[in-house]
Amino acid sequence: MTAGNGESDERAVVDDTEGAGDASDDDAPALPEDDGAVQDALVEWYERDHRDYPWRRTEDAYEILVSEVMSQQTQLDRVVAAWEDFLDEWPDVEALAAADRGDVVGFWTSHSLGYNNRAKYLHEAAGQVVEEHDGAFPETPEGLQELMGVGPYTANAVASFAFNNGDAVVDTNVKRVLYRAFDVPDDDDAFETAASDLMPAGESRVWNNAIMELGGVACEKTPSCDEAGCPWRRWCHAYESGDFTAPDVPTQPSFEGSRRQFRGRVVNVLGEHGELALDELGPRIRVDYAPDGEYGRDWLRGLLADLDDDGLVDIDDGGAEMTARLRA
Ligand code: SF4
Repeated sequence: MTAGNGESDERAVVDDTEGAGDASDDDAPALPEDDGAVQDALVEWYERDHRDYPWRRTEDAYEILVSEVMSQQTQLDRVVAAWEDFLDEWPDVEALAAADRGDVVGFWTSHSLGYNNRAKYLHEAAGQVVEEHDGAFPETPEGLQELMGVGPYTANAVASFAFNNGDAVVDTNVKRVLYRAFDVPDDDDAFETAASDLMPAGESRVWNNAIMELGGVACEKTPSCDEAGCPWRRWCHAYESGDFTAPDVPTQPSFEGSRRQFRGRVVNVLGEHGELALDELGPRIRVDYAPDGEYGRDWLRGLLADLDDDGLVDIDDGGAEMTARLRA
């Protein structure tokens, strides 16, 4: 399913403007053949470490719905306090349904949560759950969309995070990741197809969290591929080419970019390790370094020759194998 704009640290989604289209095979991007390895790498990366928002620790549909509605226009770090206060005030769907609507809207205003209509819809949705569903939330995206103010993006998020029963999320962050990593064309149907193909069946809870985390902390508009230990570097087209443009990043992020980025890595690694042979240095510069491959010794020699010309690195090519160190 598709949502609209999103920033790296908030989910500025437009929930009811774009529906999912039927993806045709023509749009199918070339995803890596070893999709199991791609999936495992991302899930392991996410499970090793991620931002610990409190709604990621619950599977309660009501608590998750509140977090999703609040997150639509507000930075996630600011949502935490509002979410906790809201649940103190109205701890479950019955409590919210029984609340005075003016109190809910007043809470929204006092916590600067943006459009007050969201508070009214949330209150209305709570009433629906209590009156029409005996207090139990619908468990499918389709069922959740019947609730007031719950569009396809929010319905899918709640189905995923509460019931592990959603489709692949496609928001702006996810599009950016797919575009860079797998060359998916800038087309909603193509993103939809790629996102669905990549998601492990029946794993929407962890998968959607993980891919959104990747877009939020590693593959941001200015990506931090190495610093964030991106688990998809070995497959990523942008990482290989150095072209980090994306649908929402029309010009190359300034500090990144192909050779300059790699030159910086060489200087950092030699600064840390001292003198290194080519095959010791290479894997520390690129995860896909292979001595005889496209990004192997010849490529690295070229990079070192540039740094030598610039007076930054000394190369010893006299012995059996080339070594490099920072120039004193
Ligand atoms: S390697 Fe970099 S550009 Fe590629 S998916 Fe990871 S963070 Fe994004």
